[in-house]
Amino acid sequence: MAAIGGKRVGVIGAGMVGVCVASYLQRDGHKVFILERGVPGHGASFGNAGALNASSVTPMSMPGVAWNVPRWLFDPVGPLSLRWRYLPAIAPWLVRFIRAGSPEKVHAQARALRPLVGATLDALMPLVRDAGAEDLVHRLGHLYVYRSADGPEKERLDWELRRENGVETDAFDADELRQLEPALSRDYRRGILVRENGHTSNPLALVQRLLDHFRRAGGELVPAGAVGFRLDGHRLTAIRTGEGELPADASVICAGAWSRPLAHSLGDRIPLETERGYHLMIRDPEVMPRIPVADADGKFVATPMQTGLRFAGTVELAGLAAPPDWRRARILLEQGRRMLPGLAADHPAERISMWMGHRPSLPDSLPVLGPSRATPDVIYAFGHGHVGMTAAPMTGRVVADLVAGRRPSIDIVPFAASRFG
Ligand SMILES: Cc1cc2nc3c(=O)[nH]c(=O)nc-3n(C[C@H](O)[C@H](O)[C@H](O)COP(=O)(O)OP(=O)(O)OC[C@H]3O[C@@H](n4cnc5c(N)ncnc54)[C@H](O)[C@@H]3O)c2cc1C
Repeated sequence: MAAIGGKRVGVIGAGMVGVCVASYLQRDGHKVFILERGVPGHGASFGNAGALNASSVTPMSMPGVAWNVPRWLFDPVGPLSLRWRYLPAIAPWLVRFIRAGSPEKVHAQARALRPLVGATLDALMPLVRDAGAEDLVHRLGHLYVYRSADGPEKERLDWELRRENGVETDAFDADELRQLEPALSRDYRRGILVRENGHTSNPLALVQRLLDHFRRAGGELVPAGAVGFRLDGHRLTAIRTGEGELPADASVICAGAWSRPLAHSLGDRIPLETERGYHLMIRDPEVMPRIPVADADGKFVATPMQTGLRFAGTVELAGLAAPPDWRRARILLEQGRRMLPGLAADHPAERISMWMGHRPSLPDSLPVLGPSRATPDVIYAFGHGHVGMTAAPMTGRVVADLVAGRRPSIDIVPFAASRFG
């Protein structure tokens, strides 16, 4: 791509979103630096399920959620848990979350998401090829499995939203499922395969490989935390960090679940929360599925990774500061053993690892993507919730368009920070 840039751009956060944004800006010829206050790739982008699902258009809050939430909260192995002490802090977010789940709104949210996630592999592959990371990205599909024959029917609206946005599916009965994924429990009666979906077999390595290429191509990684911005009127002059100021013509906030105070410093009050999630991995597992498999009832995904078999999922509402509750991860192991009965009933501790990460989540399941209120020079690109790995590459393209003054190829009005007032 011809160099059209020339701006000095500071990207805040070296997760999947920040690294894709920085890479696309660099391809436009800008002088780009990434600020990271921790270890690159060690935020939410570290331990997710690795799904690059173009079909991920279904919001978390769906009609009927007001009834399901209490049921899930009182189910100790349910997909959602809440630290009760955190309830007062998260109550306003929960109210917005429940309100976001009306039938009209979920159709609009799905329509808005499809262009962002649908082009995930198209937008990712140029970066992957540059970085020599082809071995980490696969286009083998994603399989949803159900224990009851009417399981897909119970998720009728989810499938309707996917299909009305152009997602094609193949349905399988129990026998066909067994041929497709012989390791799966015979208790599964129905499966739906989405062939267009992809996955990464090592999310951390993918971020690292993209970052390595960015640095080899002249990008800079600055080990510092951003704390705010210096503006001259409506124009950005510098990013403020704990260690001083870094001059910049433009900046992009890609700080995941930690983005709220930075947006607040620019006058945007954004109801960003974290939906914490867990993974549990088995190294050298006895069996593995060939492709990522989502258990629709348990709401977790089993992904074959380079480093072992990963079960990932669950939502815990407990904020950024509370320590992990590893019981949430162990539940995934019980459920995983039921999904794949060929796994041993017991594994030595050294073959098991657990992780907790912070999804950056807005109540309407849409990210915040677009300019800040205070200046067109600071652009928001955070809050991708459950689909940040998938949406990151297209987010990178959109941000590069905004910084260049080009009209983005997708409609970003639904992602405006101003939608929260
Ligand atoms: C269990 C689980 C499973 C998931 N599965 C999937 C999946 O299969 N597919 C999918 O698409 N998504 C999935 N997700 C969601 C996905 O992981 C996230 O949406 C995505 O990783 C967010 O990326 P990010 O770059 O915005 O944030 P992060 O990866 O969290 O990166 C943010 C970075 O910003 C840095 N930072 C924060 N504040 C500052 C500051 N002030 N200055 C400098 N640096 C700062 C942090 O240190 C961090 O490195 C899953 C999430 C979880 C928890």
